[in-house]
Amino acid sequence: MKIPSVNQELVSDLEKIKDPQELIGEIFKRFKNRAAIGTSGQLTGTVMIDLAVKAGAKPRVFTIDTLRLFKETYELFDAMEKKYGIRVERIKPDPAKIAAMVKEHGEYLFFDSKKKQELCCHLRKVEPNDEVLKTVDVWLTGLRVDQSAARAKTNRFEIIIHPEGKHPILKVAPLVDWTEEKLRDYAGKNGVPVHKLLEWKKDGWYYESLGCVICTTPIGPHEPRRAGRWRWFNAVDSDKECGLHTERKHEDEV
Ligand code: SF4
Repeated sequence: MKIPSVNQELVSDLEKIKDPQELIGEIFKRFKNRAAIGTSGQLTGTVMIDLAVKAGAKPRVFTIDTLRLFKETYELFDAMEKKYGIRVERIKPDPAKIAAMVKEHGEYLFFDSKKKQELCCHLRKVEPNDEVLKTVDVWLTGLRVDQSAARAKTNRFEIIIHPEGKHPILKVAPLVDWTEEKLRDYAGKNGVPVHKLLEWKKDGWYYESLGCVICTTPIGPHEPRRAGRWRWFNAVDSDKECGLHTERKHEDEV
């Protein structure tokens, strides 16, 4: 079967499918391995994989392995592979670029300034992500409107342009309006593997957003969910992002 084109007509067609399981299943049916779920091991990603398998797909799944992930993150991917019979592609940064960055700025450059944190995130996350996006037409993400003020306006569908290849990519957030509670409820009822750090709790502190070791800390009661990411920048930046979801051109911008 011919892989469909990514355009507004496709979006209008897929918009009619309201049920996330049906939508994910339809996307893999139409796009096969040209569609992929990108996940960092958080609840939205693992639930999307479960929904895809329930819809009859053998989903392509990738993660950006920054080489600084928690050991619990690798354990989760092993558990997902075992349970669902899938392979989680681990996309790594360019070792030469990382070595050059560390040589110039040091191993812990992300403490120095926002600019250096963004550089580290760009080389460890954004560039590897761009590499894998060269091979997809549909990128399924775990973005949700309740994750931060910056993400509150996230749409279920968005056509972006790959920065190098110039080809359009349909970015889909099938669970955009799900809450943390709804995801936990689904995961519990359906036996979806959950990242061990998302089950960790101590004196009211817990994890809600996960990334690299050091740059990820638990949040306390009443803190926003991304307060634990790059905690040392909390006073200067309330919409903290690594660049994966902010550096994209749209179809009408090229
Ligand atoms: S989260 Fe921290 S260690 Fe990971 S890529 Fe970004 S700045 Fe670097």
